[in-house]
Amino acid sequence: MRWALIGASRIASSYVIDAIRTQDGAEIQSVLSSNADRGAAFASENAIPESFTDLDAQLADETVDAVYISTTNEKHHPQAMAAIAAGKHVLCEKPLAMTLADAVEMVEAARDKGVVFATNHHLRNAGSHLAMHDLIASGRIGDVLSARVFHAVNLPEHLRGWRINDASAGGGVIPDIVVHDADTIRFHLSEDPVDVVAKAGTSGLGEGVEDSVMSVWSMPSGAMVQTHESFTHAFAGTGIEFHGTEGSIFARNVMTQQPVGDIKLVTADGETAVPFENHNLYHRALGLFTNAVRGTGRASADGVDGIKSLAVAHAVREAAKTGGTVRVDYGGF
Ligand code: NDP
Repeated sequence: MRWALIGASRIASSYVIDAIRTQDGAEIQSVLSSNADRGAAFASENAIPESFTDLDAQLADETVDAVYISTTNEKHHPQAMAAIAAGKHVLCEKPLAMTLADAVEMVEAARDKGVVFATNHHLRNAGSHLAMHDLIASGRIGDVLSARVFHAVNLPEHLRGWRINDASAGGGVIPDIVVHDADTIRFHLSEDPVDVVAKAGTSGLGEGVEDSVMSVWSMPSGAMVQTHESFTHAFAGTGIEFHGTEGSIFARNVMTQQPVGDIKLVTADGETAVPFENHNLYHRALGLFTNAVRGTGRASADGVDGIKSLAVAHAVREAAKTGGTVRVDYGGF
């Protein structure tokens, strides 16, 4: 399978190029950058044969089967639409788009064209989350009453660009992290939030966009979800908890790109540590995407998952702005 990278990004160079190359027979043919020098340097540093500044020229390569889109968020929609029109399978970064309508258009276009479209939500690929998913699905904690997500981090210095100061590029902690938490909660509970309340603000980094948010979501089952996302918390650590009628799951340091963390299960029988696999999250995501292209199975998070995580993030932002309860609009999905 031959890939083209749309975007000379850090996530590509840090994680996804390696994950693509781990797949049998996978090759990366080209990279697109808006800047010719940066594109050429990125191609050379990552042993990619070609770099382009023109998307149509890049997509005209008929030997390319799939694209990975990891530009800033406002570019995902036009680039995905062009790639789909060219018949390429698409792995797109989150958030899929700036608006729900754009995300829906991307997913429907891919469906109509018969290409695979997936969203790069990495967390549901983590061994820790797969283990928690199994515990919940097998009824070990009974009916889930509530969940808490702790995803307040210290945004590393090298990421303090468009994320903290450019609303037009999709900056802000809500499009950046709430989408991941929405996907993770949907994955674990197998249901979609109905409505949300939220408070957002700045606490030291955000310039024209929020850098911190807390929200509460109602689930169709009656479960309640509480989340905290931030760019400014150096010492908080991440985690997730699920509390059910028969037990509780406490996981720490699991809202991360690394295969790390600790999980504890507490039931009437006492407290036990939960073991989990420590495979690379992105390797697994790329493996499932590759299988989906080959017609065996589905991507770990598909296009509809990307629409739904974006829908929840939009509801959280709207709720923070209005101070009211906002019903999540899934755009008909
Ligand atoms: P980067 O800031 O590294 O890259 C985004 C764009 O910025 C690139 O496409 C590039 O444009 C431009 N750029 C990169 N370096 C420079 C530079 N030195 N000077 C000027 N412009 C530069 O973004 P991230 O890798 O952090 O994020 C990219 C996308 O991936 C986002 O949508 C984000 O939400 C998502 N993401 C997903 C993660 C996940 O685990 N799923 C984790 C991190 C990010 P050009 O291509 O035109 O050269």
